[in-house]
Amino acid sequence: MTTIRQDDLIDSVADALQFISYYHPQDFIQALNKAYEKEANPAAKDAMAQILINSRMCAQGHRPICQDTGIVTVKLKVGMNVQWDADMSVTDMVNEGVRRAYNNPDNVLRASILEDPDGARKNTGDNTPAVIHYEIVPGDTVEVYVAAKGGGSEAKSKFAMLNPSDSVVDWVLEMVPKMGAGWCPPGMLGIGVGGTAEKAMLLAKESLLDPIDIQELQERGAANRAEELRLELYDKVNKLGIGAQGLGGLTTVLDVKVKDYPTHAANKAVAIIPNCAATRHTHFTLDGSGAAHQTPPKLEDWPEITREAGGNTRRVNLNEVTREDVLSWQPGETLLLNGKMLTGRDAAHKKMVDILAKGEKLPVDLQGRFIYYVGPVDPVREEVVGPAGPTTATRMDKFTRTMLEETGLLGMIGKAERGPTAIDAIRDNQAVYLMAVGGAAYLVAQAIKDAKVVAFPELGMEAIYEFDVQDMPVTVAVDSKGESVHNTGPLIWKEKIEEGAV
Ligand code: SF4
Repeated sequence: MTTIRQDDLIDSVADALQFISYYHPQDFIQALNKAYEKEANPAAKDAMAQILINSRMCAQGHRPICQDTGIVTVKLKVGMNVQWDADMSVTDMVNEGVRRAYNNPDNVLRASILEDPDGARKNTGDNTPAVIHYEIVPGDTVEVYVAAKGGGSEAKSKFAMLNPSDSVVDWVLEMVPKMGAGWCPPGMLGIGVGGTAEKAMLLAKESLLDPIDIQELQERGAANRAEELRLELYDKVNKLGIGAQGLGGLTTVLDVKVKDYPTHAANKAVAIIPNCAATRHTHFTLDGSGAAHQTPPKLEDWPEITREAGGNTRRVNLNEVTREDVLSWQPGETLLLNGKMLTGRDAAHKKMVDILAKGEKLPVDLQGRFIYYVGPVDPVREEVVGPAGPTTATRMDKFTRTMLEETGLLGMIGKAERGPTAIDAIRDNQAVYLMAVGGAAYLVAQAIKDAKVVAFPELGMEAIYEFDVQDMPVTVAVDSKGESVHNTGPLIWKEKIEEGAV
């Protein structure tokens, strides 16, 4: 009989969450570096360079890889011979570990969890509660798997109850283009097949805890149907040409994981859960000898990458920019932003649109300004702001026409594609949408030289800030004529791949 102490589980969970907030798993870095080296589309290659540089900076600076530090998901495999020296439930211990990790003053993580999800949506303040799964297994240890899942990639999860004769491959290939780039590819797809509806989702999530090993599988060949699916889907998904950040390119997925389970004769449940550029997971085992501590990797394990400034780069002064300037910006062009921009995401947009609907005045003047869709991490030490990468822009699509037409807003900065409603509004108003790289949040934050809250402080990380930026790199993703690089890029690269031109 092994005895596990309460503090050992709490400390181990807190340590694991701090660890994964700033260290990518090594298998992810190696796979991303290989994809970076072979990428033929310069825009996708640059996005991967930013993610790799960001990763190294985070490992060095012990600050989060992404401003979205995730919803904590924990799986415990509890040995049947284990007893607990504790006055808390195991669920409460895990949540205490989350609380301590997210409030660690040396590396404060963003609290992103809202209670009353279809009501008040009030931030719990410490990123609790975690989503926790248990399995009771033979043995006298407790194995714990800890992940911090980004909301942008979780939002792109898909589920279907297929007919037994339907093709899983066809369904996945139909779904992936519909997922857009809000899941910050390149990453992994976790796929669950079989069981029941909830079992398929769990299988998909669990499969993402395994290391990237598709090259090994390619070398040894498939031993079962799940492995056949992995090989076929890895190949076919990459041939879709979606590429890093949806800009078009050779690598959309670094691996595809498949787990299956026996199912009812009438059913074929299938689930996809993507894992993003901020892949964050680790595991540890408690055997009664004390808390488990993660072993830091060596900085030499990260590739030394520098970004090449392309010829196609334009420096923009946001304090003086005019609509005439915006009209000359070309799709795919790189801009280096300087000067002042405002921030705002879901909650701030909802509030602003409600205020406008009542005919009242906004607390900030948006005339001729740019708004950056971001919810930054709080700063520590000498930082002016913590990691502050872009959030998924499509969530703001329904507000875009009102914002452009009623406030004089000139442009927006976010991550991934815009939908048709937003593109139409951008074209009709001769505005622009700029894209920053999702998953490069600490790197982006280096460009922010000053930050102050200017409206809605009660919204916490969703408040409106004014940032003063210096050479913040962005790409023109929808120009003033409504051309979207997320529509054109993947089509061009799919064709090139099909023609064998790359
Ligand atoms: S990498 Fe993208 S999807 Fe993942 S947590 Fe960051 S912003 Fe969200």
